[in-house]
Amino acid sequence: MGTDVERTDGDLPNTAEEDLQTLEKSYAELRDETQQLINERTTLEAEMRTLRKRIERLDENVNLLKMPPLIVGHIQDVLDHERAIVRSSNGTVFQVSLNQRLDPELLKPGTRVALNQDSLSVVELLTEAWDPMVSGAEMVEKPDISYDDVAGLDEQVESVREAIELPLIKPELFEKVGIVPPKGVLLVGPPGCGKTLLAKAVANHTDATFIRMVGSELAQKYIGEGGRMVRELFSLAKEKSPSVIFLDEIDAIGAKRLDGSTSGDREVQRTLMQLLAELDGFDALKDVKIIAATNRPDILDDALLRPGRFDRVIEIPIPDDASRKAILGVHLSSMNTKKISIGRLVERTKGYSGAELKATCVEAGMVAIRDGRSSVTQSDMLDAIARLDKKRSQASTSVSPEALYS
Ligand code: ATP
Repeated sequence: MGTDVERTDGDLPNTAEEDLQTLEKSYAELRDETQQLINERTTLEAEMRTLRKRIERLDENVNLLKMPPLIVGHIQDVLDHERAIVRSSNGTVFQVSLNQRLDPELLKPGTRVALNQDSLSVVELLTEAWDPMVSGAEMVEKPDISYDDVAGLDEQVESVREAIELPLIKPELFEKVGIVPPKGVLLVGPPGCGKTLLAKAVANHTDATFIRMVGSELAQKYIGEGGRMVRELFSLAKEKSPSVIFLDEIDAIGAKRLDGSTSGDREVQRTLMQLLAELDGFDALKDVKIIAATNRPDILDDALLRPGRFDRVIEIPIPDDASRKAILGVHLSSMNTKKISIGRLVERTKGYSGAELKATCVEAGMVAIRDGRSSVTQSDMLDAIARLDKKRSQASTSVSPEALYS
């Protein structure tokens, strides 16, 4: 750029017109270049603004991370507009000062509050009805699993629909006949055979909130924690009703009670007692249904299985040939496949759980991607089965699900 207008002494212009043309050309070039630079500057300025906003957001996050944690407690008594008695979550009672910004109307005995770690003064009101401890629960307002996603479990789906779905969507049928609908069902069977899937499908079909809690989360070390979590789980379910509580691994808190147990065992038993009490106090929980699941039905306390509690036990077994065909069908239907013979795959996957069948499909997809192909072939599926077989034999130290449930 600009070189066109440079001249050396021995290189005089032919004519003034030629010179003018050259100058005009370089001027046009300069103008284009300036415009280009202006455009670039506008883009860079926009980019800078976006980056500044991002920095601000990150700064905010850093500040939040630097903030000391607050202690959670409950107000026991409000002395005057400046002082209150609170019980912190570890049980100690303090007289503390109140933040003047807080609405005195909402400061009542029983209100859950956040306390400053040093001064223990009340800095925030926690209006959520449930404690963060229940956050061990997974809550989905409406799961996106339908009955079509649950393959090979037609009978089980029917039983669960009858026990859980019907009372939720047509309670009048039970009222007319004068019978009390079941409170919940217990699904028993090896891992990965569709227990969670089935519970989610029921919640979806009834427009109910799905709340999943794993039993081992409830088996707390601290005295009173497990029972409190059970209480709060049920009050959350009531608040979000209609809802389906899915209590996975119920054996973690529902194992047979033995004499001479340790204090930890006694705490687990107290949690179970709380669960039984919640199940019995069911009248108020019209729109709440419970689906529990276990793969150790043999160790469950009989109290859980008494009429009026989990009176329906539904077995979800390792899929047989027809079920494996259906499960493979469901998972392969959303994949791009080429000449797959499901019949052969069914033969080669005896003893596989639903989760393992799904894993096989995903693995086969990965084989195709690694090969740079966009569709899955029979040989990819057989490759994936060989890999899964290897994994299964490596895990042979644990008791196989088929052995437990055959
Ligand atoms: P766990 O006892 O370990 O909680 P589970 O019985 O609840 O196991 P799921 O979580 O329902 O098992 O299944 C795991 C995954 O396996 C599902 O997300 C689904 O993709 C697949 N799967 C299992 N069973 C079936 C089935 N019957 N039909 C279709 N997919 C299935």
